[in-house]
Amino acid sequence: MNDRVIRCDVAIVGGGPAGLGAATRLKGLGVGHVAVLEREAAAGGVPRHCGHPPFGLREFRRILKGPDYAARLREAAEAAGVDIRPHTTVTAVERGPVLRVSTPNGPARVMPGRVLLATGVRETPRSARLVSGTRPMGVLTTGALQSMVYLKSRTPFARPVIVGTELVSFSALLTCRHAGIRPVAMVEARSRPTAWRAATLLPRMRGVRVLMDTELTRIEGTDRVSGVMLRHVSGREERLACDGIVFSGRFASESTLARMGHIEVDSASGGPVIDQFGRCSDPSYFSAGNMLHPADSAGRCWQEGVETAERIARSLQGGLPVADSATAIRPHAPVIRYVVPQRLVPDVRPVAEVPIRVRFSGEARGTLLLRDGETGILSQNARALPERQITLRVPQRIIRPDGDTLDLVFRES
Ligand SMILES: Cc1cc2nc3c(=O)[nH]c(=O)nc-3n(C[C@H](O)[C@H](O)[C@H](O)COP(=O)(O)OP(=O)(O)OC[C@H]3O[C@@H](n4cnc5c(N)ncnc54)[C@H](O)[C@@H]3O)c2cc1C
Repeated sequence: MNDRVIRCDVAIVGGGPAGLGAATRLKGLGVGHVAVLEREAAAGGVPRHCGHPPFGLREFRRILKGPDYAARLREAAEAAGVDIRPHTTVTAVERGPVLRVSTPNGPARVMPGRVLLATGVRETPRSARLVSGTRPMGVLTTGALQSMVYLKSRTPFARPVIVGTELVSFSALLTCRHAGIRPVAMVEARSRPTAWRAATLLPRMRGVRVLMDTELTRIEGTDRVSGVMLRHVSGREERLACDGIVFSGRFASESTLARMGHIEVDSASGGPVIDQFGRCSDPSYFSAGNMLHPADSAGRCWQEGVETAERIARSLQGGLPVADSATAIRPHAPVIRYVVPQRLVPDVRPVAEVPIRVRFSGEARGTLLLRDGETGILSQNARALPERQITLRVPQRIIRPDGDTLDLVFRES
């Protein structure tokens, strides 16, 4: 109760591309005190650990390596007058809004006008993937590999296996190249790469086997990894000798604060439930970036941060419509992983359409149908691919203030 109190107009939790993009834009819109609360030693988010390109095309019209991109975002925020507070971990979110924080000077309470949650994502580590076998050293996620290689100049292994073919898996490959590490293989349980097919040219050119339809079933080794067992979809098994494993991707929203607090979380996306303004179930809280939609490029998250900043500024002036009654969008097909935003509020401004991101979990071709009971109100052809998304543009006129639910279905062709 005797904690120090820090007051500000907007507090941003997380200094990644989304948080820094929002902070800089808020200052540009004339908002007084904007504080970015970042638990690490410096703001910049994931790109700070990611010493390879491509970052920055959308924001700076140049292709930058991650740390250079993070430094530019930080410099832009500082030049705009943002109060960046590193080594500051938000430990709880409460109504008010009030944030409990841990700082180098002890605990404090932050009491802002509005809060933006932009805490990003984490990859699924070995423990959550339920892979059998021993528990030797040398099993990492891409993020852990990158902080070892780029921030600590360490080389954790020489011949690892990379599990996954998402974009981040190729980031793991580039990180290995930077450190002189030669992966043995990339292993993917699906029959096509999760990223673009052309991306697999990169490992093949470097002599790295790309094994599709293949699952890693067991890890071997006592102190260090000595090998892995793989099972092909046909049932054939193979042992691969290796000295490390990178479990890449399978991102999950870093939404612990929302979950432990009073903010409604969408069980499908893992992130906070938001309306089209990025507003959470407590309308003093907003959210942006990867925590809403695991996982997108840095440029998209930055863009979303900028757009959400404009809505936060509008909210501070009392210019957003009340959030009480909304139309909910409910997906009804296994191939639809989630939709964001999940709630639509009638806007007082003449906006023609509201974009909704639909993310898929599997492969299919067909039509997305938005229905009000039995009445179809919108349809769009869609090619569903795992981890890809399409944007559905919902006409503003169909958003009603009666708290109804619209069903989103997928009809395969
Ligand atoms: C390994 C890897 C490689 C990638 N490579 C590329 C690439 O080449 N090009 C590209 O465009 N994108 C790439 N991406 C994606 C890109 O990095 C992310 O999309 C982007 O960083 C997301 O921005 P964000 O602001 O939403 O979250 P993040 O960048 O994750 O930032 C979230 C921030 O919140 C902080 N935080 C979390 N919890 C708290 C708390 N409780 N208190 C205080 N601070 C907290 C974290 O420390 C972090 O700094 C890559 C991602 C990964 C993981």
